Amino acid sequence: MSATRIPVAILGSGMAGLGAAHHLRECGRAGVIFEKKSYPGGHTMSHKRDGFVFDEGPHVSFTRDERLRGMFEQAVGRELLKINAYIDNYWQGHWVRHPVITNLRGLPAETTIACIRDYVEAKNVPDPRIDNYEDWLVASYGRSYAETFPMRYTEKYHTTSAANLTTDWVGPRLYQASLEEVLTGAIAAESPNIHYVQDYRYPAHDGFIAFLRHLIGGSEIRLDHEVTGIDPRQRELRFGNGVKAEYGSLVSSVPLPDLIPMIDGAPREVREAAARLACTKVVLVNLGVDRPDISRASWTYFYDRELPFSRVSFPRTFSPYVAPEGAGSIQAEVYFSNKYRPLDGAAEAWIDPVIDGLRRCGVLREDDRIIYREAMPIEYANIIFDRERAAALEVVHGFLEDAGILWCGRYGDWGYLWTDEAFTSGERAAERALAQPAR
Ligand SMILES: Cc1cc2nc3c(=O)[nH]c(=O)nc-3n(C[C@H](O)[C@H](O)[C@H](O)COP(=O)(O)OP(=O)(O)OC[C@H]3O[C@@H](n4cnc5c(N)ncnc54)[C@H](O)[C@@H]3O)c2cc1C
Repeated sequence: MSATRIPVAILGSGMAGLGAAHHLRECGRAGVIFEKKSYPGGHTMSHKRDGFVFDEGPHVSFTRDERLRGMFEQAVGRELLKINAYIDNYWQGHWVRHPVITNLRGLPAETTIACIRDYVEAKNVPDPRIDNYEDWLVASYGRSYAETFPMRYTEKYHTTSAANLTTDWVGPRLYQASLEEVLTGAIAAESPNIHYVQDYRYPAHDGFIAFLRHLIGGSEIRLDHEVTGIDPRQRELRFGNGVKAEYGSLVSSVPLPDLIPMIDGAPREVREAAARLACTKVVLVNLGVDRPDISRASWTYFYDRELPFSRVSFPRTFSPYVAPEGAGSIQAEVYFSNKYRPLDGAAEAWIDPVIDGLRRCGVLREDDRIIYREAMPIEYANIIFDRERAAALEVVHGFLEDAGILWCGRYGDWGYLWTDEAFTSGERAAERALAQPAR
C-alpha cells in the first residue's frame, strides 16, 4: 500500500466536493476528490432506466446565483430548458394550487371559514411566543390551517411533529401570506403564483447531472474510494479498497454521523453527539407509465396520512426527453428516519402501496400500464432540525475544528442546503483549506 501525499483531499463528489475542487482550480491549486460510489455527483446524479431518466429525488435548479446559472448554462448550452413552475397540493380529494393558504377556494366551506377565522385571530396576537415550529405555524397561519396542512405535512416529510422542530431552517420556504392574499385566494377566480420556486431550469437531456458535466470533467475524482478511517494526527486516510493516502488539508462532505466514527481518537461524547443528529431517508418509487400527460404539475404535495408519499413529481414536466415517446414517469417520495420512523424491511415493499395510493387519488388511472418500476432508497435526505440538533452539532463541529478537518455541504454543515448552497459551502471550505498552515 503506497502512501501518496495529496495537498488537499476532498471527500465526496457531490455539489459540495465539486465546489471545493472548483475553488482550488480557480486558485491554481490541486485537489483530489475521493468518492465511495462508482459514479460521481452525489445526490445530483441522474439514472437512466429503460429509456427513462430519474434523478435522486426531483432536482431542478432555481438558483438566483448568476455565476452558478452561468456555469450550468455553459455545461448544457442550447439544451437549457426554462420552465414556469406549476405546483399543486392534494388533500382529501381536493386538488389545490400551491401554497394552499392563498388558494383556499374550492375547499369545503367549513375548512375555508375555520382557516380564515383562525388566521385573523392569530394575526391579532401581539408578540406571540414561538418556541418551536408548531408555534411558528400557528402564529403565521392560525391553528386550523396549521393543523390541517403544514403540521400534517411535517409529520410525513420530517417524520416527527412540528412541536419537536426548531424554526431556524424555515427561511423563505414557507410563504407568509397577507390577509388580502388569503381572501383573494378564497374568493377570486385566480390567485397569484407565490412559491419559492417560480420558475426553474433543467437540462433537456440526461437529467440534472448534465449541469455538472464541466465540473466533473475538470476535477480529479477517484471513484470507488470509500474512506473508512482518518488519522488526523498523521493526516492519513484509509479506504475500504486498501489504499492509504496522506493529505495536507482535508475537506469533507461525508455525512457527520458517518464521518465522526471514522476518525481515530474521536471521544465518546463526540460520537454520541454525532449519533443524535437526525436526518430523513427517502425511498423513491420510480414508475414509468404508458401515458405521457400524467399531470400538469411539476410536483404535488400530499397531506393525507393514508397516502404513504409526501411529494410526487412528474419528470416529463421538467423535460420531454426524460421518458420514451408516448410514456410518462412518476417519482414518489416516502420518508423515514432512523431516529423517528425507521424503515423496516426492503424499500421495494413500498412500490405496491405507492401505486395503490396513486390510483386512489386519481394520479394513475385504472387502465394505466406501469412499464417500469423500482424503489431507490437514499440514505441521507433532509436534515431534521429537531431540538437536539444545535447542541449536538456544536460538539461535532468543535471537534472537527480541533482535528483540523474542514466540513462542507448539506451533510457536513448539517443544514437545509440546496445544490447552489452546497457548492458555495464547498468553495468556502476550500478557501479555509488554503489558509491552513502548509505541511
Ligand atoms: C429528495 C431531494 C430533492 C432535492 N431537490 C433539490 C432541488 O430540486 N434543487 C436543489 O437545488 N437541491 C435539491 N436538493 C438538495 C441537494 O440534493 C443538495 O443540496 C446537494 O446535492 C448536496 O450536495 P452535497 O455535496 O452536500 O452532498 P451529496 O450530494 O450527498 O455528496 C456527498 C458525497 O459524499 C460521498 N460519500 C459519502 N460517504 C463517503 C465516504 N465514506 N467516502 C467517500 N465518499 C463518501 C457520497 O457518495 C456523495 O457522493 C434535494 C435533496 C433531496 C434529498
